[in-house]
Order: sequence, then C-alpha cells, then structure tokens
Amino acid sequence: MSVSRRTFLTAAIASTFALPATGRLLAQTPQPKMPRNAGIYRFKLGSFNLISISDGQFSLPAAIFAGNATPEELNRVLKQGFQSETLTADCNVLLVDTGKDKVLIDTGSGSLNGNTVGKLLENLQQTEIKPSEITAIILTHAHGDHIGGLKGTNGLTFPNARYFISKREWSFWTGRSIKLPKFKGPEEMKQQAIDIARTQLSLIRDRVTEFEVDKEFLPGFTAIRAYGHTPGHVAIRIASGDAVMIHTADTVHINTINLWNPSWKPIFDADPEMAAATRQTILAKIASDRTLMFAYHFPYPGIGNLRDREGGGFDWQPVNWQFES
Ligand SMILES: [Zn+2]
Repeated sequence: MSVSRRTFLTAAIASTFALPATGRLLAQTPQPKMPRNAGIYRFKLGSFNLISISDGQFSLPAAIFAGNATPEELNRVLKQGFQSETLTADCNVLLVDTGKDKVLIDTGSGSLNGNTVGKLLENLQQTEIKPSEITAIILTHAHGDHIGGLKGTNGLTFPNARYFISKREWSFWTGRSIKLPKFKGPEEMKQQAIDIARTQLSLIRDRVTEFEVDKEFLPGFTAIRAYGHTPGHVAIRIASGDAVMIHTADTVHINTINLWNPSWKPIFDADPEMAAATRQTILAKIASDRTLMFAYHFPYPGIGNLRDREGGGFDWQPVNWQFES
C-alpha cells in the first residue's frame, strides 16, 4: 500500500471509527431535515420476542475490509455489489425478551464514534422499554462500536443489568500488558482500541460475569468461539425451543465483499489469519445447517440466511420485512 493511500485510510478511519467528528458540521448550511426512518424491527424466535435496534451506520473506505485484496480485485467485486469505494456498515443491536430476561447484545458506540452512530437509546425509546429494564448485557467483544454505549452522561446506561463477556476477551483486555503483534492497521488505531477497551470495561468490573464458550451461560444463550477479530470474540447462539438463531457479531462485516471472499482480511482484526479461518468455519456451518443469522454490521435489520455461492463464498438472503411481528 502506498504512503499516500495509507495516510488517506488512516485519516478516514480516524474520522469515522474512533474520533468524534469535531468541526465537520461547521461549514455546512442547515438544510431542512426529513424525519429519520424506523430504527426498530420486531420479530419472534420460538417464544422469545426480539427487536433489532439500529445504533446508526458508518461510512468507511472499502479497502479497510479487504487489506489483502488488490485495488483491481476489490473494484471488480464492489462493482458486482453496486457499491462504491465507500461502504456503509450498519450497527444492529439485538434485544431479546425471553419472558424472564431482557437481554441486549452489545451496546453500540455511545458517544465514541461521531454523530452517524450512537442512536441506540433514541431508538430504544420507540420500543417503550426503558434502559433500567434491561436485565442482561452480552458483549460479543470489546471494540468501541460494541461497548461505547455502556456509559451515558450519568454513569452506566443500563444501571440494573448484569454484564456477560467471554472469559478470554475479558482477560485479554484487562490484562497487565496488551500486545497485538498481528494487527495490521495503523498504530494509532491499535492504541485507541486498547484505550477504549480498558476504559469501558473498567466501568463494569464489579458487575461482570465471564463465560466459557459452548456452555449455556444464560437461559437460551450459548457462546460460539469466533476468535481472531479480537482474541476472545464470540458469536452467540440463541435458542427458544427448536428455534435457533446465530448472532455472528463481527465474524463477518460486509454482506457483499466479505461474504463473497471470506479470505479477504479487514485491517482491524487482531489476528487476520485466525479471523479468516473462523469466518469460513462459522459461515459454512450456518449455510449448511440453514440456521437463521443475525449480523451486527449487515444492512438493517441484519436478519437472514446464508447459502453457498458457486465458486466459493456465501450469498446473503435477507428475511422479508414483516409488518406484523
Ligand atoms: Zn464492529
């Protein structure tokens, strides 16, 4: 990658992923605003009532999701997907009401990542469920766009929740020294990820339950090993009776380029090789088992199925929007 290309990517990532968009709006003349579209989508899984809640969306350079693809390869695939060099990644927070627990999987960006995200609380209001009614928060991993919403202006955003995170993820980010030798992104991006994880996780130190993979840690919820994106990143299997759905968290990011080429490596993975192997394994199983899938960064509401694609990779089949839930 050339120096100027790297500089451009670094700046683009810094301005969208992590740093507040200070000053960006100053030069714009105010435009009359249309009301935003709906940010909640209700559906059922067995006897559980679920809501996909939008935290908003990022616009990011496509190249960061495909660090090992040549510009020609990437452009060809982007064209196939009717996409440009800037991609949209949604942030879909899942709320599961089991009847006993009100569980939120991840918390969005909060105030960490600029003003196109951090919409979870605003959209949660439409559900008429209050933050104080959330009884459990499952954290799939400790990146800012998943744990930024732990804290609001008056302390913890979800004051009555218990917090669940994989033992491996918790130990890694709260350990004495954090090393990410295989991380391929810019150094400042790495440092920022470490600072965010440390700061945010310290908020829940007294309320956290660390879970093991492959064991039900909360009725209906079992973690699946999905290491690589971060050292202890997990997918979550949600089951009610015979109905099953897999929340893949950040096993895969973009529903076109990363599904069609699971070996393309995002530059922000802790261990890109391991993440790519994880992606292939988990997605292949979801496709062959025909399991319903929920994807944090796919187009809202992020619910659908996978099928094997001729020549390798997978195709995304989103569920039809249901007006009656
Ligand atoms: Zn993410």
